[in-house]
Amino acid sequence: MIRDLAAGPRILLRRLRELTAEPLEPQERLDRIVLQIARNMVAEVCSVYVLRADGVLELYATEGLNKESVHLAQLKMGEGLVGTIAASAQPLNLSDAQSHPAFAYLPETGEELFQSFLGVPILRAGRSLGVLVVQNRAQRHYSDDEVEALETVAMVLAEMVASGELKKLTQPGQELDLTRPVTVTGEAYAEGVGLGYVVLHDPRVVVTNLLNDDVDHEVNRLSEALGSLRIHIDDMLSRREISMEGEHRAVLEAYRMFAHDRGWVRKLEEAIRNGLTAEAAVERVQSETRARMMRLTDPYLRERMHDFDDLANRLLRQLAGFGAHAAADAFPSDAIVIARAMGAAELLDYPRASLRGLVLEEGAVTSHVVIVARAMGIPVVGNAEGVAALTEKGDAVIIDGEDGKVHLRPAQDVQRAYEEKARFRARRQEQFRALRSVEPMTRDGRRISLNMNAGLLVDLPQLTESGAEGIGLFRTELQFMIASTMPKGEEQEAFYRSVIKQAAGRPVTFRTLDIGSDKVVPYFQAAKEENPALGWRAVRLALDRPALLRTQFRALLKASAGVELKVMIPMVTEVEELRQARMLLQKEVQHLSRFGHTLPKKLQYGAMLEVPALMWQLDELMAEADFVSVGSNDLFQFTMAVDRGNAQVAERFDILGRPFLRLLRDIVRAGERNNTPVTLCGEMAGRPLSAMALLGLGFRAVSMSPASIGPIKAMLLGLDVDTLSAAMNDALDRPGQGMPMREMLKRFAETHNIPL
Ligand code: PEP
Ligand code: MG
Repeated sequence: MIRDLAAGPRILLRRLRELTAEPLEPQERLDRIVLQIARNMVAEVCSVYVLRADGVLELYATEGLNKESVHLAQLKMGEGLVGTIAASAQPLNLSDAQSHPAFAYLPETGEELFQSFLGVPILRAGRSLGVLVVQNRAQRHYSDDEVEALETVAMVLAEMVASGELKKLTQPGQELDLTRPVTVTGEAYAEGVGLGYVVLHDPRVVVTNLLNDDVDHEVNRLSEALGSLRIHIDDMLSRREISMEGEHRAVLEAYRMFAHDRGWVRKLEEAIRNGLTAEAAVERVQSETRARMMRLTDPYLRERMHDFDDLANRLLRQLAGFGAHAAADAFPSDAIVIARAMGAAELLDYPRASLRGLVLEEGAVTSHVVIVARAMGIPVVGNAEGVAALTEKGDAVIIDGEDGKVHLRPAQDVQRAYEEKARFRARRQEQFRALRSVEPMTRDGRRISLNMNAGLLVDLPQLTESGAEGIGLFRTELQFMIASTMPKGEEQEAFYRSVIKQAAGRPVTFRTLDIGSDKVVPYFQAAKEENPALGWRAVRLALDRPALLRTQFRALLKASAGVELKVMIPMVTEVEELRQARMLLQKEVQHLSRFGHTLPKKLQYGAMLEVPALMWQLDELMAEADFVSVGSNDLFQFTMAVDRGNAQVAERFDILGRPFLRLLRDIVRAGERNNTPVTLCGEMAGRPLSAMALLGLGFRAVSMSPASIGPIKAMLLGLDVDTLSAAMNDALDRPGQGMPMREMLKRFAETHNIPL
């Protein structure tokens, strides 16, 4: 080998930099690039294959093979040596290429003359975009340094492909893989359709300066950045608020281990010696790690590789002098944010008016960010694995919060279909908006009270937009869930005050803290529970920690000075709990009046009915409570013994089946008997068919997500509710099974022209 190993790639990279800056046509530029590489590496052949959208690797340029075969020679992904490299995202270094089992002979290229073969993948964020190959006539083994050098050079080509420059060279009807439409299937977390352009929440730092002028300087920069990264991780580990056990710590420990990993650091330094800047070196090594990660099937190892990937991102930001999220540049007016995971507060940092959707690679439907997104009316697709690596900032994207699909760079027909779907939804919303000021009165003259559920200030404008009568359920725990420290009494008071102010005279029913179970509050650490839904939560926790509940009562009372306060207690199991909580409320009332505070004009104290045990205490309950609100989400989960968050069982039993409807009817009858107002605020109130059933059972007040108010009003305006009640009672009382209730209700709606 003639060349100077250390200087070789650096000289080559410099030459390539000049070439990429010259005003050349893309083919000419590619031709010159392969010529340069061949010369520098003393290879007789250098070729570039680019991956097309149809999974074929097409020869885009060559020095040394038959030029006529450019754009003609093709190999499928996985086929031949080139296809193997692209599929495995690993280099192949062979002194006798033709004896390799994957070797496929392409007669048009004339490559039979060449025995030695070195090919490396052209990688971007771990994806193969093509393959770069050098070949020699004589049998030889390329050194590790040469492999390394060729991989470094491949980065320049990756930039070229990603920049879109090569698009001009595609043949009619063909597209490059990078621009290929891809559909990723995740899970539907929040309904709605979003059309827009990709914003990466954790943007990859785009390394534009690939090539260094001073190796020592870059090595120093790298070691400084690594130093601060290590200190930062140590800092996080020693911070008190991170519990000493658990996931969080395990992840940080893994980070620390990686940050000191000699092999990793050695690879980074090697890449710098080959001519890359520190940033480009991190990106190169990260891309290889990603490529390996994507091919791992062991979930534990994949998770560890994810940690490595995160660490590399942090290091890149450190080097580029970035803050945590430097995504502020040119935020599109219709943005779909793609994130691996995200905290609720981070979502609130984005400009609401421009947000069209959210895609999460991880997270659960009950995670805070999803609750907040739903409250904001933003469609969310979750569990969309690997989506961030498949996309670039600014790509067109459509997300469907109904079937959980993410369409990246959608084809025209998909685009058109979704535009139509979005138009249809908008038209319907328009129709519902027109109903805003129409009184919710059934055809036979029953007045129904339609209220909305809320939990954050971002929900409040929806009161006017939806035409809701008031807030039937204000989930106070949401404010606690998005805060990083426990909100103090004064903060709570100020928050409730602004809720009441923005509600502008419409009634608000505040539910006291329902934390525990899936509602995790980061600064409130309880012991790990086997069955958290049945565990230490809501009123149980509140009665054991009375200071928490008293602070909240006081804040609510002060914020409601001179107006009506409606407050209710979640997860009551025995009426005694309701009495005990009322005593705490009474103490706060006494305390405030002793100190001369203005009290609420009227105080209404209610219970949520979510635990079946209350079914056998209904009369006592209603004697104790001014009103009862049925939490059908939990009541159904506990009645049927099905976890509401477990997709495998959650849909197993029908909420409109006889057992649950009979139970609901018993509650309504107890309310009538005791003259106690009964409402319902679970998800079933927001779906037209089940809401219709609730009216048929005798409910006259319900609360739901604001987007459902319009459809529910449209349903009830044409409903003859007394006729429905008679039909339902008849069907519910009939011994034996008969027609399923859902079927009966659907038929009723059909024959009576009720829009569902
Ligand atoms: C319910 O359980 O039905 C309810 C409204 O409360 P949450 O969904 O907040 O548990
Ligand atoms: Mg509940």
